[in-house]
Amino acid sequence: MPADPAYVIAGGGLAGAKAAETLREEGYDGRLVIVGAEPERPYERPPLSKDYLRGESEREAVYVHPEGFYAERDIELRLERSAVGLDPAAREVQLDDGERIPYARLLIATGAEPRRLPVPGADLDGVLYLRTVADSDVLRGRLERGGHVVVVGAGWIGCEVAASARQKGLEVTVLDPLGVPLERVLGTEVGAVYRDVHADQGVTMRMGTGVEGFEGSGSVARVRTDGGDAIDCDFVVVGIGVAPRTALAEQAGLAVENGVLVDERLCTSAPDVFAAGDVANELHPFYGERIRVEHWGNALEQGPVAARAMLGREDAVYDRLPYFFSDQYDVGMEYAGYASDWDRVVFRGDVASREFLAFWLVRDRVVAGMNVNVWDVNDDIQALIRSRAQVSDHDVSDPGITLAELAGA
Ligand SMILES: Cc1cc2nc3c(=O)[nH]c(=O)nc-3n(C[C@H](O)[C@H](O)[C@H](O)COP(=O)(O)OP(=O)(O)OC[C@H]3O[C@@H](n4cnc5c(N)ncnc54)[C@H](O)[C@@H]3O)c2cc1C
Repeated sequence: MPADPAYVIAGGGLAGAKAAETLREEGYDGRLVIVGAEPERPYERPPLSKDYLRGESEREAVYVHPEGFYAERDIELRLERSAVGLDPAAREVQLDDGERIPYARLLIATGAEPRRLPVPGADLDGVLYLRTVADSDVLRGRLERGGHVVVVGAGWIGCEVAASARQKGLEVTVLDPLGVPLERVLGTEVGAVYRDVHADQGVTMRMGTGVEGFEGSGSVARVRTDGGDAIDCDFVVVGIGVAPRTALAEQAGLAVENGVLVDERLCTSAPDVFAAGDVANELHPFYGERIRVEHWGNALEQGPVAARAMLGREDAVYDRLPYFFSDQYDVGMEYAGYASDWDRVVFRGDVASREFLAFWLVRDRVVAGMNVNVWDVNDDIQALIRSRAQVSDHDVSDPGITLAELAGA
């Protein structure tokens, strides 16, 4: 007898796990299946470049839910199984072991995967990437052994790995073709702050430097730069961004462009198929344009909204502003908003002592803001962005004017 159509979640990461939790909380009591390619039950990735990587926290701390959570709620976890086929007409998902699961609703939460550096020597041992807890375990072992690590890419992952490696006492060199770390997201002014943070900690920051290739016999021993010099090393970590895992959606003919296209209810172009987390490219109601966010907060919050949309709840709309955080050494930050382009950056507070706010402005409106080692202000930053209030640089930089006053509240 064919099984009852299930609610199926393809992808056992944070977005998938939070969706499953919400489906049960909201009273869905039918068959619920999470298909997850990794051997682990759903876990959170931020610790993998921070405390977990440094050996300061245990494996148990990374999981989204305690052991037993899924069985207690009758959520079927198919681990080490991939969803490899999707037939929207037949409403069926196919797994890599041949099993076919009929679905009533499907959530695609397949996340993203590291972009690979296509250079000679890329396959040498010791050229590492960081996405999974297994990757973090390998890297953790390397950090314990010490030596010299070259980090390729000064984005979030590269910067956090560099910080953790320095904190473990390794010699660290960071390479990036751009002029400052995190330049694409933060721009040159705030990127320069992070360059100095790392340099102050003893990291060799080789900005404006690309990689020609890796050399070594069997294992990487040297990084050849595009400037023609060679940097000896014990291992390499490459962090040059991620690509959304869209194969399942593409194969099924869903609309895909830099992620699976979804509307504000996280519905894809196929009926009863939804997408959430790193893989979803949403037409965001606040911005009126498509945004794909590769951050923890987005996966955490989109999973539940997707679940509620799957249940047909009218108010299930995802309109949160993008939000992310990063911790490097003793410098913690939160960033909210979305700025692909901006006129200028305005600071408030003491940049030299690394306790400040930064605001990205477009035509006298704040479109993104960041708090560095200043806490309990991110909600106010978000309210300011949402207000779309017209502001002057002077007022934005003046700590005597509250963010609520700036927002016109
Ligand atoms: C090392 C690291 C540190 C980070 N630190 C921060 C941070 O400090 N702040 C922040 O805001 N964000 C951070 N992030 C980003 C954040 O972790 C991601 O945005 C978040 O994990 C996205 O969750 P997701 O559920 O959408 O996807 P993922 O976490 O990628 O989970 C998707 C899961 O689906 C599985 N899968 C893929 N395809 C299939 C398939 N066909 N069938 C079945 N399963 C499949 C994958 O194996 C994976 O387990 C970090 C990421 C990494 C890697």
